[in-house]
Amino acid sequence: MFQSLSGRSVIVTGSSKGIGRGIALRFAAAGCAVLVVSRNLSEAAAVVAQIIAAGGRAQPYAADVTRPDEMAAMAAAAVAAFGSLDILCANAGIFPAGRLGEMTAADFDQVLGTNLKGTFLSVTACLPAMQAQRKGRIILTSSITGPVTGFPGWSHYGASKAGQLGFMRTAAIELAPFGITVNAVLPGNIMTEGLAGMGEEYIRGMEAAVPMRRLGTVADVANAALYFASDEAAYVTGQSLVIDGGQILPESQAALG
Ligand code: NAP
Repeated sequence: MFQSLSGRSVIVTGSSKGIGRGIALRFAAAGCAVLVVSRNLSEAAAVVAQIIAAGGRAQPYAADVTRPDEMAAMAAAAVAAFGSLDILCANAGIFPAGRLGEMTAADFDQVLGTNLKGTFLSVTACLPAMQAQRKGRIILTSSITGPVTGFPGWSHYGASKAGQLGFMRTAAIELAPFGITVNAVLPGNIMTEGLAGMGEEYIRGMEAAVPMRRLGTVADVANAALYFASDEAAYVTGQSLVIDGGQILPESQAALG
């Protein structure tokens, strides 16, 4: 699948675990050189070791997506390591819960700062390299929560994930003349370390709400990201793809049978 990706270089933010790690492993298996980015270098290095053991090419990199200087250095590190920067998967994100009335302005800023401003900072840091080669692929990890659905405790998170899509649409227009596409994956409930932290009761409840009666895997999301990154998707930009086992489809509980 997607032979065109062999030899491309990719940055995956937030790839020390969860969906980002799944994306990093999938792109490495497709022949890409991967910069595995998280704030924790040793956790990023463990993913790199896994990629190298499987015969792939990767380097770990420690950076915080909320820091403009660190994002600029990250983009430069990818070019230095791999000779080009072809693909950015802006995936790093956090999802602490807090209902309105409890949520502080600092809580709101932290979630928007990481998920939305972090998207802006990682994308803009990668643009000079991509614009110079007049080609690039940017894939954002948004969510069904915000753009399509809501969930108690996640008003700030939903705002950040919907905000990513607003950012994407204008970015896609501005960057199209440079041969750069910007698209988004919208995962439903995907089994990751972050989601496991929500607890067993949350996970069982979500499984029951999904027509396919299972949570998604990180590979389910990574395969969609791989498509957006491919040459085959050259004429697709500003689009989003829901990967949720049909979770957003039922009109009511009765529709689930
Ligand atoms: P996760 O397991 O908690 O992993 C999050 C990753 O992001 C880690 O590698 C973490 O590493 C990194 N990260 C967090 N803050 C960062 C920062 N400021 N700078 C750099 N890296 C940072 O989360 P996940 O479930 O895989 O979620 C990944 C993305 O998918 C998020 O954008 C999330 O909103 C989205 N998503 C997840 C689900 C789901 O069901 N799991 C559903 C929809 C959307 P460090 O802490 O070491 O930095």
